[in-house]
Amino acid sequence: MAIKSGKEYIESLRKLKPKVYAFGERVENVVDYPLFRPHINAAAMTYELANHPEFEQEMTATSNLTGEKINRFTHVHHSMDDLVNKVRMMRLLGQKTATCFQRCVGLDGLNAVYITTYDIDQKHGTDYHERFRKYLKYVQDNDLMLAGAMSDPKGDRSLRPHQQEDPDMYVHVVEKRDDGIVVKGAKAHITGTVNAHEILAMPTRTMGEDDKDYAVCFAIPIDAERVTLIFGRQTNDTRRLDGEIDAGNAKYGIVGGECLIVLDNVFVPWERVFMCGEYDFTGQLVETFAGFHRSNYGGCKVGLADVVTGAAYWMAENNGLEKTPYLRDLMAEMVSMAETCWSCSLACSYQGSKTNSGAYTINALLANVVKLNITRMNYEWMRLAQDITGGLIITLPSEKDYRNPEVGGYIDKYFGGKAGTSTRDRMHMVRLIENMAVGAGLPEALHGAGSPMAQKMMIQRRSNLEGKKEIAETIVGIRPDKYFEEITGKTEDEYFKEFRE
Ligand code: SF4
Ligand code: FE
Repeated sequence: MAIKSGKEYIESLRKLKPKVYAFGERVENVVDYPLFRPHINAAAMTYELANHPEFEQEMTATSNLTGEKINRFTHVHHSMDDLVNKVRMMRLLGQKTATCFQRCVGLDGLNAVYITTYDIDQKHGTDYHERFRKYLKYVQDNDLMLAGAMSDPKGDRSLRPHQQEDPDMYVHVVEKRDDGIVVKGAKAHITGTVNAHEILAMPTRTMGEDDKDYAVCFAIPIDAERVTLIFGRQTNDTRRLDGEIDAGNAKYGIVGGECLIVLDNVFVPWERVFMCGEYDFTGQLVETFAGFHRSNYGGCKVGLADVVTGAAYWMAENNGLEKTPYLRDLMAEMVSMAETCWSCSLACSYQGSKTNSGAYTINALLANVVKLNITRMNYEWMRLAQDITGGLIITLPSEKDYRNPEVGGYIDKYFGGKAGTSTRDRMHMVRLIENMAVGAGLPEALHGAGSPMAQKMMIQRRSNLEGKKEIAETIVGIRPDKYFEEITGKTEDEYFKEFRE
């Protein structure tokens, strides 16, 4: 079975037994836990659409390992078209779910590890790439969802991994055995973990020789022994328990559903270890992964912008204001910002290049520009959505009051829009906008795929300021001035020296 349906994906989760905690309790049945279900539905969409012929180009690809048709979320990009189709897929899924569908982090991890293991082997004579190809085939054959786990807790951010007072602030190897390694530490803020099949763990920063034990990359099943998952809270998460309207987007939720993954002396067999001590490749792995993930944000977040722009326009119409020049201007601003981010995502894909491994990677400078734009523009277009929606985004009574026969009629009458429209629909649209424009999606757009400082550092490194300076100097014509000698018989320096003395 190369490509699973959404239903098959959900059923496959039932066979797994991860150790999960949420809201103070152990969750035995992940699939039916009401606070997880929207995340699971959103991830299921990455499976479901791959079975729709009209989305074949975006959602499926041909495996470079087997030649089989596979879900694009398990594919290693092997052309410019692959990179472009990937961001098209992200935008499509953003439109269909209006939330984070989570599966991209594992996809980006697969691509970054594929590219980096090839280069490690070239330099160190190891066999990580071959191991990884076998693992990738397993992922493709079973159409698995991976939680890409990069961020370590980091402790004192001014210290390197080996300098931390608590050595577990970064995941590290505590034992090497004939059959594998034992790792300890944690990965934090990891998207889509409770409903993934596997965890792909990667180092979180560039490391030096003293950090050798921390230079480790590996894959484990989600229910591997001694792995504990602790689910994170999100703004308005318990709204899901309050009814369909109040949840805003009851089916797909707010953002990814992030976890703290605790690795308490977890055994990893050698065939699932893809870096162990090669600290000189940690920087490459992190940058390659980050580049891929940052390039996605002009896809998925723009899909969300499509939804929120449509919702804001719906509200403008419902208020009878859709022709007002001010609102039309705001709508144009929203569209323009979203399409700017989309253009960046397309550009960094079209400017991609072939790596030594044969796989393709995006243009890293442009990918970081994509994400930096998102950190600003996402807030801005959500602000405009709030502006268009109006103050009821924070004053609307609850769904329970609407359904209460004693007061529901008042809500229906006084919170309605123009004649002939449904107050219920209007309430639901307001809650959807609240969900997207006031909720956890905002900081997710800021910190997801790395905080703005990380993007600025990468942009600084790749901005070629010296080259730009030379261009400006050429325009001005900065060079030794020959005319001085011709006119004064002195060099420029000698001539002006007399005035300075
Ligand atoms: Fe995918 Fe976007 Fe969610 Fe990241 S934030 S996992 S790119 S949907
Ligand atoms: Fe994210």
